[in-house]
Amino acid sequence: SAPMRTVEVGGVAPYRIHIGAGLLADGTLLAQTLRGRHVLVVSDSHVAPLYAQAVEDALHAAHPELRIGRHVLRAGEAEKTLANFGAVIDALAALGATRDACVFALGGGVVGDLAGFAAACWMRGIDCVQLPTTLLAMVDSSVGGKTAVDIPQGKNLVGAFHPPRAVVADTATLRTLPPRELRAGLAEVIKYGAIVDAPFLAWLEAHAEALLEGDTAALAEAIARSCLHKAAITERDPHEHGERALLNFGHTFAHAIEAEQGYGRGLNHGEAVAVGMLLAARLSATLGLASWADAEALRTLLLRFGLPVALPAGLAPEALLARMHLDKKAQAGGLRFILWNGPGLAHVVSGVDEAAVRSVLGEAS
Ligand code: NAD
Ligand code: ZN
Repeated sequence: SAPMRTVEVGGVAPYRIHIGAGLLADGTLLAQTLRGRHVLVVSDSHVAPLYAQAVEDALHAAHPELRIGRHVLRAGEAEKTLANFGAVIDALAALGATRDACVFALGGGVVGDLAGFAAACWMRGIDCVQLPTTLLAMVDSSVGGKTAVDIPQGKNLVGAFHPPRAVVADTATLRTLPPRELRAGLAEVIKYGAIVDAPFLAWLEAHAEALLEGDTAALAEAIARSCLHKAAITERDPHEHGERALLNFGHTFAHAIEAEQGYGRGLNHGEAVAVGMLLAARLSATLGLASWADAEALRTLLLRFGLPVALPAGLAPEALLARMHLDKKAQAGGLRFILWNGPGLAHVVSGVDEAAVRSVLGEAS
């Protein structure tokens, strides 16, 4: 069988992350945590035609007695809604799903978040196996147990903590992923190096070409190392009381950029995170916490990965600042950022001086 790496996630609800090319064809692996007869495969309109039949065939070959249903959403963030959550619930009901049923979330983070939330709620919680098919989902959204849908008032406002029973990341699926989506995922990979693993940044620099070409061995290594970090951090702080916030490096800026441009209409999330990480590094230098050379080195690495390093034209610093204040309305205190003392040395800083933020934004636009 195909070479595979396994990352163990501990804590109260432990599970394994399996990473390798061709894993979706391994029915025994897919079914290893199954407890009952009912399986619902949830996917989207891009991913289902490519991979759903293979998953269902593999499951059926390993366990002919399974009752397998399929529910397909239209692709895109706009579909991560309460209405589509209800449609997954309806599909579970139509299948006759019992307490021991299992949801297989086959797709990117949109499918993973929505299907995971439906699994969290059906009969107060059934098993969910994540089958991530985007790099972002493999290194970020499928691990850590956060599930959610969007409402008009904001992204991810309705959801639950519901760790998966297992994660199976088939790196062969990345061959059909649009290059821009691959680069967006690489931005989150770079994030792990930036916050806790400086040597990983050097490794990424050395393997940039292989990663960008979709080399599955290099990607598997990058995914495994990213998952190790996400697993370790979320295991120590599952509900984001402290350390888990480090995963938001670059995200205060990124969310403001995405909101100001209108979600999905300008930079995608990974691209906005790339710009945001550079701004966080520069803000750190402005505040005397880190060197300007560290920020410049991060900029060089992001450019190497074809990621943006400047604010999109037309975004006014004042408008972005206003967004950041709105974003933090629910929290006490002033502006809060994840800053660094240099590569691998991130920490949370509250009450950041607004003038420093304004100056960093001004210089980047
Ligand atoms: P996505 O799920 O929208 O996928 C991106 C696009 O790629 C979609 O059009 C999809 O159909 C397509 N696609 C997916 N896999 C493919 C493949 N193998 N080949 C061809 N096309 C493919 O987006 P995403 O970037 O994977 O996930 C973003 C979502 O993840 C957001 O909703 C975000 O809130 C969420 N997220 C959640 C967490 C978490 O901890 N739960 C963390 C980060 C992000
Ligand atoms: Zn992110």
